Amino acid sequence: MIENVHISDLAGHVGSEVTVHGWLHNKRTSGKVAFLILRDGTGLVQVVVSQGEVTPEVWARLEELNYETSLGVTGTVRADPRAPGGHELSLTDLYVVGPSGEDYPIQLKEHGVDFLLEHRHLWLRTPRQVAIMRVRDELIKAIRDFLHERGFVNVDTPILSGAIGESAGTLFSTEYFDLGTAYLAQTGQLYNEALAAALGRVYCFGPTFRAEKSKTRRHLTEFWMLEPEVAWCDSECNMQLQEDLVFYLVARALERCRTELVETLERDISRLESIVPPFPRLSYDEAIAKLRSLGSSIQWGDDLGAEDETQVAQDYERPVFVYNYPKGAKAFYMKENPDDPRTVLCDDLIAPEGYGEIIGGSQREDDYDKLLARIREEKLPEEAYGWYLDLRRYGTFPHSGFGLGLERTVAWICGVQHIRETIAFPRTLKRMYP
Ligand code: ATP
Ligand code: MN
Repeated sequence: MIENVHISDLAGHVGSEVTVHGWLHNKRTSGKVAFLILRDGTGLVQVVVSQGEVTPEVWARLEELNYETSLGVTGTVRADPRAPGGHELSLTDLYVVGPSGEDYPIQLKEHGVDFLLEHRHLWLRTPRQVAIMRVRDELIKAIRDFLHERGFVNVDTPILSGAIGESAGTLFSTEYFDLGTAYLAQTGQLYNEALAAALGRVYCFGPTFRAEKSKTRRHLTEFWMLEPEVAWCDSECNMQLQEDLVFYLVARALERCRTELVETLERDISRLESIVPPFPRLSYDEAIAKLRSLGSSIQWGDDLGAEDETQVAQDYERPVFVYNYPKGAKAFYMKENPDDPRTVLCDDLIAPEGYGEIIGGSQREDDYDKLLARIREEKLPEEAYGWYLDLRRYGTFPHSGFGLGLERTVAWICGVQHIRETIAFPRTLKRMYP
């Protein structure tokens, strides 16, 4: 077994000699003393090497230590409030596990984003990227905690499907044996609806795929989406759930990721501290009126673009709901609004600070005839939706749900401008490597 103490556990070893393994993050020598910064994934620690206290062989080995050399160090743990992480190691021994070339591509200088993306597998080792991944992980845990506390059941929906889930324009397709074309899931929602009739409150949480042809800061071709689906829940109840969830997620990040947010990402957390219910709500009609009063030429019936979203949300510190969009701007499965049949019972939740839509939700059409008419109107292949229509033939029920984009949520909470940094290996129009 490899003897190893994690950097984050050093507090329990003050005064003792331990061995830590990791990668060389930085090195600086001044005369007879050298300072190494080691990173092991749990933190950073400074290692102090005094020429007089190590063998000449160990001192000589320092020469070959380039950035990202992997190594084991043995030394005595000393508490030092000024050191990163609060501890220091006084080195007694050191051995190299894997040397690293002098040409290590990511140096401590500025690199262009294309270069960094090309070296994403190494870029991930830098403190900012590590912090973002930790926040992402905490948010994933928080999502699951929130839903399980409320009695939701996690279900897993297929990634290969014969039915178009969202819109025909952004499908990835592949040959599926003798059965024709299969599509990569744009959403798990339709399957969730079947599962909601079995389990009441369900959610799926997995990768979804959209062949987004436009290059924006908030579109990936592969992204993770949380999708709750709730039986006996109308559009109002749906928005309440979204508000509760988003409040919970922000509070959790503030509670458990403070170091990452404040120290590494330099996030202005006062902006996050003001995310408390209730969130403002604007009907689509009100949003259009507001945009027009600000000089926009947007017409009733148009979907809101990214610019419009930013404008609608600009006066608010909290996320803003825009609800009940025109039918033509939204997916076929949304329920017709009985009070204004030109519109559907849906909502988008727009994050503050220009981060745009993080959630799209709706009450689902539960009337067989209306749903069939919408499928025909959208010229969707009817035969692929037989099972979906069955849900309206055998015990139809009011139900609602939504999709929360994980990467957009992480981007907003971390204050990251482009969502490509919020997933380990982003897939975009122009990039499949690494
Ligand atoms: P947009 O108008 O911004 O393209 P959308 O209306 O297509 O969003 P939905 O179909 O409602 O989005 O999907 C639910 C959520 O999934 C969105 O609110 C967003 O957070 C996320 N999302 C959608 N498309 C993408 C994408 N290409 N990359 C990352 N996240 C996405
Ligand atoms: Mn879209």
